[in-house]
Amino acid sequence: MSASTRPSAADRSSPDARLHALDAAAVLRPRVAYFSMEVALEAGLPTYSGGLGVLAGDVLRSAADLELPVIGFSLVHRSGYFVQRLDAAGNQEELPEAWDPRTRLASLDATATVAIEGRQVRFRAWRYDIVGMSGAVVPVYLLDTALDENDPVDRILTDELYGGDDRYRLAQEAILGFGGYALLEAMGLAEHITTFHMNEGHAALLVAAALEARLAARADASVASDDLAAVRRRFVFTTHTPVPAGHDRFNLGLVRAVIGESRTRLVEALGATRDGAMHMTYLALRNSRFVNAVGMRHGEVSRGLFPGDPIHAISNGVHAVRWTAPAFATVFDRYVPSWRRDNGYLRHAVGIPLDDVAAAHRAAKDDLAVAVRRRTGVVLDPARFTIGFARRAATYKRGYLAFWDAERLRAIAERIGPLQFVFAGKAHPRDADGKAIIRQIFQAASALGDRVSFLYLENHEMALAQRLCAGVDLWLNTPQPPFEASGTSGMKAALNGVPSLSTLDGWWIEGCVEGRTGWAIGDGSDAGPQADADMLYDKLEQAIVPLFYDDPEEYARTMRSVIALNGSYFNTQRVVEQYARIAYFADRSEARL
Ligand SMILES: *Cc1c(COP(=O)(O)O)cnc(C)c1O
Repeated sequence: MSASTRPSAADRSSPDARLHALDAAAVLRPRVAYFSMEVALEAGLPTYSGGLGVLAGDVLRSAADLELPVIGFSLVHRSGYFVQRLDAAGNQEELPEAWDPRTRLASLDATATVAIEGRQVRFRAWRYDIVGMSGAVVPVYLLDTALDENDPVDRILTDELYGGDDRYRLAQEAILGFGGYALLEAMGLAEHITTFHMNEGHAALLVAAALEARLAARADASVASDDLAAVRRRFVFTTHTPVPAGHDRFNLGLVRAVIGESRTRLVEALGATRDGAMHMTYLALRNSRFVNAVGMRHGEVSRGLFPGDPIHAISNGVHAVRWTAPAFATVFDRYVPSWRRDNGYLRHAVGIPLDDVAAAHRAAKDDLAVAVRRRTGVVLDPARFTIGFARRAATYKRGYLAFWDAERLRAIAERIGPLQFVFAGKAHPRDADGKAIIRQIFQAASALGDRVSFLYLENHEMALAQRLCAGVDLWLNTPQPPFEASGTSGMKAALNGVPSLSTLDGWWIEGCVEGRTGWAIGDGSDAGPQADADMLYDKLEQAIVPLFYDDPEEYARTMRSVIALNGSYFNTQRVVEQYARIAYFADRSEARL
């Protein structure tokens, strides 16, 4: 669509925009600017903490595949999130994961400044090119304040992802929002952006930046309803959090100190202050022309939290090619040859011979065993029924649920067949409850006996997640309804034929076809841990473990239907097509899929 658009006068007048156009012909003239506090660009670049960042990276990769005119913005996070170490009791230690962007990325010539606590903080941007399957490029700019000319307290502002105190977090959000907008202006691109997409509320100060830019263009700086409407037309917002406590807010005194009086007044004019605080979700929600939740249930929950605001639902997905194990990619290439270009063709996985499904799964299971042995020295038993679980150690995810009744678990393993659990997941450094959950899991797992083996892998990150989601026989998920907005690791498993056993929350309400894509724990209500654990054991005992040990062909048939039903739908290609159709380019003739 953009091949036919010619550079405008504004493009030509800006040296940076010219550079932008020259050094990569494949970069489309951007129309959509996607903002996220974290983006998982590739394994080994610690610019993300978990699901939100992985989603952002997968969305941008699919946008590149679909040749959409998108650019991304985030922060450089020079110290990463953290490297997790666990001692024998499950105590978590956090080490910085410093990396040097110079060794991996190109620096943009353009710099810009953002006012923090009255100081003009200069920042530059590092550019990472996401290359889509046909060669189209979605550039991602990582903002970085580590410049000698800055005050030492400002040089570290883009170091730690979700680090520091409220002041530090707010400064980061100001850099992402005001700084991101300033950089777009310095590049000569700001006025060409028809959609600013805020991935979660961290980027919401971008709305105030856009309003400020509009007011700056004229003498009278008072805010009229026209101004608010004009800003609103440019914004799209995706909310990811189903609980009020999960939504960022900052004390107004702090806001005034960090972003200054006049910008705080803009935030007030944008209707985002309440009870002495600035609410990032209100800032984004009230000022976006299109708002979406990340699953159908999450849409209902969000409409309950914010009555009166229309909130759509676009269910999450994962990047199919990124998350499909090599052995399955080979099988898909053979039997579903168009699956890379159009993930929807995976619906035809129903025609793949069961032997090929079983063989690809064995290869993925072997790959996991190799990775585990390399990391830990532990040798997994390839014949054992293997259950995987890897996600943030957050209270509502209840990682301990499978070990609630060790006696019952032992009995199932004795009677039907041995079990092998492989776990992973980090707790946020300041989340004492999350850390306690890891210790609790370690403790429970120490009393499981020989026929139930258990391993907790340190430092869950993308390279590990790829092997883990693909190489187990069952993917376990135990969130307490309704706290899981979506969850995406089960979708990664699904692309590799791995069925899920999960409480009915988040994506699983849509993804569960009992016995065909996996199994449900409970009915979607919050039944409490004891009842949920009982139902978990019932399913293992009556349906899942006997199927695995007694009827491998039927297990392979289940795996195949997991791919056909869920792999074909829960992918970011479908997600981005939905964004393009109903959020980005709806009512616009200049760009269509
Ligand atoms: C996919 C992924 C997540 C998200 O998992 P959920 O199922 O959403 O909890 C977290 N961390 C990493 C490294 C991932 O790859």
